[in-house]
Amino acid sequence: MSTKKSIKSIAPDVVLIGAGIMSATLGILLKKLNPAFTISIFERLDRVTAESSDAWNNAGTGHSAFCELNYTPQQEDGSVEISKAIKIAESFEVSKEFWSYLVENKIIESPEEFIRHIPHMSFVWGSENVDYLKKRYDALTAHHLFEGMKYSEDKSEIENWVPLIMDGRDPNEAVAATRMELGTDVNFGSLTRTIFDYLETQDGVNLYLNHEVEDFKHAADGSWTISIKDLATRKSQKVRTPFVFIGAGGGSLPLLEKSGIPEGKGFGGFPVSGQWLVCNKPEIIERHQAKVYGKAAVGSPPMSVPHLDTRVIDGKKALLFGPYAGFSTKFLKNGSYLDLPRSIKLNNIKPMLAAGIHNIPLTKYLIDQVRQSPEDRLAALRDYMPGARLEDWVLEKAGQRVQVIKKDKKEGGVLEFGTEMVTAADGSLAALLGASPGASTSVSIMLDLIHRCYPKETQSPEWKQKLKTLIPSFGNSLAKDAKLAAKTRAWTTQVLQLSASRMEEEILA
Ligand SMILES: Cc1cc2nc3c(=O)[nH]c(=O)nc-3n(C[C@H](O)[C@H](O)[C@H](O)COP(=O)(O)OP(=O)(O)OC[C@H]3O[C@@H](n4cnc5c(N)ncnc54)[C@H](O)[C@@H]3O)c2cc1C
Repeated sequence: MSTKKSIKSIAPDVVLIGAGIMSATLGILLKKLNPAFTISIFERLDRVTAESSDAWNNAGTGHSAFCELNYTPQQEDGSVEISKAIKIAESFEVSKEFWSYLVENKIIESPEEFIRHIPHMSFVWGSENVDYLKKRYDALTAHHLFEGMKYSEDKSEIENWVPLIMDGRDPNEAVAATRMELGTDVNFGSLTRTIFDYLETQDGVNLYLNHEVEDFKHAADGSWTISIKDLATRKSQKVRTPFVFIGAGGGSLPLLEKSGIPEGKGFGGFPVSGQWLVCNKPEIIERHQAKVYGKAAVGSPPMSVPHLDTRVIDGKKALLFGPYAGFSTKFLKNGSYLDLPRSIKLNNIKPMLAAGIHNIPLTKYLIDQVRQSPEDRLAALRDYMPGARLEDWVLEKAGQRVQVIKKDKKEGGVLEFGTEMVTAADGSLAALLGASPGASTSVSIMLDLIHRCYPKETQSPEWKQKLKTLIPSFGNSLAKDAKLAAKTRAWTTQVLQLSASRMEEEILA
């Protein structure tokens, strides 16, 4: 068991800023790759995973691109582009592999603490959308990672799958749905806590809560001096390290700016807040057993695709609808309203203005969302659940996302909806910006970081061998190798207890 050291006496090999899923994943991967590494984690709040990674702050969808229509855009010629969906599906398989390793090695005691089998469905109405969904289904099922997906326009079959969605619906309306049994609901908060609990038992790992990173200085020898404020004593202290990861979620952009690395210049951030309607009626919650994603409204950001979602949080089944987007100048749920104005610098003002000008429909959409009345929210819910009543739902705040704004030669600046890993040329610092597909792909994102920041070590036979133990498919492509993908899925489904029959057993129980 490691004893927490005073900051004064530490000079860790690795500093992780922020105690969310990304730092947890990087911390455990690095500790497994080199058990001698000393790692210090600094978190400004008084507990781990209290921002985006906490269960109620995100949708808990194990993003595999089974149901999210924004990952499969329709092209001008009418065809459906599936390359992004394949990449995301593959990344989620890699995450499941690493989580299976954690279960088999007893770092996670029981998989049901954090992951459950929940079918993933897409649901659309109107003949144009039905046509799109059929094309999407045809394109996806030609690829082995989407094997097993079902498609239906048959109202009674869809009603069988999701009765709440079909109850009270216009019988003349054209509808269609796809269903993938292999879908999951993930409690990323629980997973993050378990990983930090484990890391804290390891020699050389120290987690400092209530410690806010304020500034950085890059020394001539390539190391970093980090200024950290103890929020309990208000005292600032300095820590020196050869490697720092800025995994501060929405707080990453201001820290990247402070690092001053040239690779971080020109990035801006656009905060989007979120809210859910959470059902408070057990008899309604019991009637739904799927994550059902629809089509985003025209002009809305891709992450505000509405979904009616079964969740299992701390062993309790729940039903969410949303997210309803909103606008706040905070970069973190527990942040400051000055976050956005303070992030505007000479080097990013041009891309930020350009992104603003090019995204007027988005700004209008967000303003409309903020002005929504409870009745407006109910109307949106009734598109998915025609029989919904306002009194059965309560409004809750979701996490805060900061979308990336990037310099662009042609447009001046563009707003991105994915994640962006920024690394210093010498590999001594990395920062993760953006939030989608987010936690689901945390393992692939962190493997990419390790490749970039530890290039020599990653090429060594020792690390290669260890990576193969942590992620058995490492070095091969699950997207290209159908046999390997099937074998890997069979293993993770068994270890993570994700078979459909298990879910049925639970419902019957
Ligand atoms: C509404 C919503 C829905 C989402 N749905 C999904 C989903 O269904 N599936 C999915 O895979 N992903 C989803 N995501 C994305 C996912 O939640 C994030 O990608 C992921 O949680 C980010 O993890 P993180 O560790 O980078 O950040 P966080 O979990 O936000 O952690 C960052 C930590 O850094 C700390 N910090 C910040 N600044 C400092 C500082 N200066 N010093 C010290 N500590 C600091 C913060 O307090 C925080 O604890 C969703 C996100 C939102 C907001």
